[in-house]
Amino acid sequence: MNAPCDPGAQTPILDLAADFPILSRPVHGRRLAYLDNGATTQKPAAVIEAEARFYRESNANIHRGVHWLSQHATELYDGARATVQRFLNAARADEIVFTRGTTEAINLVAQSWGRPRLAAGDEILLSTMEHHSNIVPWQLVCEQTGAVLKVIPVRDNGELDMAAFAGLLGERTRLLAITHVSNALGTVNPVAKMTRRAHEMGAVVLVDGAQAVAHQAVDVQAIGCDFYAFSGHKLYGPTGIGALYGRAELLRHMPPWQGGGDMIRTVAFDNTTFAPPPQRFEAGTPNIAGAIALAAAIDYVQGVGLARIHVHEQALLDYGTRALAAIPGVRLVGTAERKAGILSFLVDGIHPHDLGTILDAEGVAIRAGHHCAMPLMTRFGIPGTARASLGLYNGLADLDALVAAIHKAQELFGTRGGTASGNGRVA
Ligand code: PLP
Repeated sequence: MNAPCDPGAQTPILDLAADFPILSRPVHGRRLAYLDNGATTQKPAAVIEAEARFYRESNANIHRGVHWLSQHATELYDGARATVQRFLNAARADEIVFTRGTTEAINLVAQSWGRPRLAAGDEILLSTMEHHSNIVPWQLVCEQTGAVLKVIPVRDNGELDMAAFAGLLGERTRLLAITHVSNALGTVNPVAKMTRRAHEMGAVVLVDGAQAVAHQAVDVQAIGCDFYAFSGHKLYGPTGIGALYGRAELLRHMPPWQGGGDMIRTVAFDNTTFAPPPQRFEAGTPNIAGAIALAAAIDYVQGVGLARIHVHEQALLDYGTRALAAIPGVRLVGTAERKAGILSFLVDGIHPHDLGTILDAEGVAIRAGHHCAMPLMTRFGIPGTARASLGLYNGLADLDALVAAIHKAQELFGTRGGTASGNGRVA
């Protein structure tokens, strides 16, 4: 993720839509152009089948049973953890905690690492481009501890202001919580460099990888971060499963944040002792089938090859950027030099929600709104954007459908050719 975008990436190289059953269903009688991958990705048959197969052939609760099926399910679950470990290049499997997703992973760190350690005046450094999931958990922990948030500003092109970052990083900074890729702008942040700087100041680093893992190989040891969070459903896996990578050294000293079965060593009314990580952080019956299907998603993505996915999506991003920029009245929001496959834009005189509705009628699925990044929208003085986000199964035809549908919307609003009628709802 830290290499510059390949300037020679011009031609999409993948043609994988046939692996994804849902992509063959028409929507509103049209071919579906699914461009809402930032919200969630579609699932390949291999993932759907892995989850179904678990329930058909292997279902039992894990860790507690002496019977064969329970041991078999436990092996599959532990195998899924090892798959995530290899995927992130974590040093050890016990550095991987299964969670419901990125949001839960960040809340775990906030409550288990942050709450016992932070004190009044301590600083948590994050950025204007964070998803609400990487803001609100820290606000809650600030209320609980008296710590304060500091915010790295974003430049007009959607890149972080690195000079401001250097200025904000200080002796009171206890934690840097930063997104790897912005879900609203597509900006790829220099997380390895930022981690080095934060570590020099003695701060711990959490990277929100929700929008990164599906687009290019992630190596937590190369980044050097202390925590890395991601969601399975943005990686062609199921909803309700994700993972937190935490450096063993830190996890070992973190208390549980939820109590229940499976996370204890012994329980007595006068003293309960806890299991080591990662079980300490996985109270109750986990999403066993989800973890196994997430491993199938990782196998699928690695089978295609993240380097090839990156080249493919960069070619689409390049094509889409040029196509949108060529439409009079369309303004791209987020033009960072290094971007993952996200095209955020405004169309003069058409509110993003109206645009989203018109595009939907044409079979083009995009997202419109603030993308759970309201402070970022405030920074740009806009209520929201329209966002087309790319996945490995997209092709040029999807982007052509997007462009044609935007033209149609402009015709309906009488703004074709860039003469904005201006309904006053978009700055
Ligand atoms: N962080 C980023 C950058 C995201 O894009 C998202 C979801 O869109 C999240 C966190 C939250 O992910 P989840 O809802 O899967 O927990």
